[in-house]
Amino acid sequence: MKKVQGNDSFQRINYLHQVSKYMSMKNPALSSYYGNLIVSIAKKNVLKIHPDIKRQMCKKCRCTLIHNVTGKMKIRNKNKLKFVVWTCSICKTERKLPIDKNKDHTLWVDKPEAVVEIIN
Ligand SMILES: [Zn+2]
Repeated sequence: MKKVQGNDSFQRINYLHQVSKYMSMKNPALSSYYGNLIVSIAKKNVLKIHPDIKRQMCKKCRCTLIHNVTGKMKIRNKNKLKFVVWTCSICKTERKLPIDKNKDHTLWVDKPEAVVEIIN
């Protein structure tokens, strides 16, 4: 059976993300701590954090963003382009993600050509 490289690290990142999300409602500082752990594990093991996890984190304080709890989500227009703007309520950092419907904003990992091999 083939092994997935960095499998136990991925499991740890998954667990820490869940704890971070749960803690962001009660203790945002602890949520940031777990977010920082996720980034340091990924860096140490040279792994990429899944975009779904990465986009839920504040890029500065690494707290998990939840609308009306630890952050604010707005849809903003700029030069006929639409963006989702997340503002962290702890450090006030903004993060813009494009959502224009005329362009293809599908993530690489969601595309069929991203799957090279399926390991059971
Ligand atoms: Zn922040």
